[in-house]
Amino acid sequence: MISIAVLVGASLSFLGGYFLSGRSLIPIKKGVQRQQEFLADASHELRTPIAVIQTNLEVVKTSGDETVDSQMTWVDNAYDEVTRMGRIVEDLMFLARADSGDVVIQKESIDLTYLIKNVTEKMAPLAGKRGIYFINTLDDDLIMAGDEKQITQLLVILLDNAIKYSNENTSIQILGKQDHLGITVEVMDQGIGIAPDEIDRVFQRFYRVDKARSKTEGGTGLGLAIAKWIVDEHHGGILIESEENKGTKIILHFNEEVGNR
Ligand code: ADP
Repeated sequence: MISIAVLVGASLSFLGGYFLSGRSLIPIKKGVQRQQEFLADASHELRTPIAVIQTNLEVVKTSGDETVDSQMTWVDNAYDEVTRMGRIVEDLMFLARADSGDVVIQKESIDLTYLIKNVTEKMAPLAGKRGIYFINTLDDDLIMAGDEKQITQLLVILLDNAIKYSNENTSIQILGKQDHLGITVEVMDQGIGIAPDEIDRVFQRFYRVDKARSKTEGGTGLGLAIAKWIVDEHHGGILIESEENKGTKIILHFNEEVGNR
């Protein structure tokens, strides 16, 4: 069965007693509660790598007679966790700045065809490590009004996920087309897919369908929350279609024309 989730909305900003979230108004109490949950989740997420780093360094500290080589395993483990922690903090800082209105979207005329080619070219070596390759089918000159840095980040998040959750030796197709309704970009992988009852939740901060897999692949559980924020800021739409053990398709839609920002 194919599952679908559509999301449109925007970051939280204060508006006389209410937080404005996309097109709906959320009472302050709920907004504060959300922030508290976010803080609790963030602390919890950071506690795990800290504990792993501490344990590994303790082993190194207390094993004086081991050779440097045998200690490298513990040092490597600690290093991996520090790297993951760094990524979590970076993503958290982005979302915190986004929530408080500190991320300024600077729209200009951007060439999405060029950006997609550029990002796929840069990510091809990472995909190649697992025998995964990109197939781009793009209209020429997909021009939109957008923030180049943020749209690049959005593409990186979606392609990174497509790689992380794909089976080895498969392809990831990227379609880009324009019609009278605007620009549509589709990223299709042949990966593990997402179960119907999980699909609505993957945009929630820290929500991961398979926590262990996300962790081994270096995930933070914040990528799609950031992706959604970026899409919202561009007044676009993001939709997921997925089938377990078949693959996932992420569909982006932008209709803001250059000169109409
Ligand atoms: P993560 O850092 O864990 O990848 P994301 O916020 O980017 O976090 O995604 C949330 C969850 O959604 C992932 O942990 C994964 O379970 C699921 N997911 C995202 N993209 C895909 C995909 N292309 N295929 C299958 N599952 C996906």
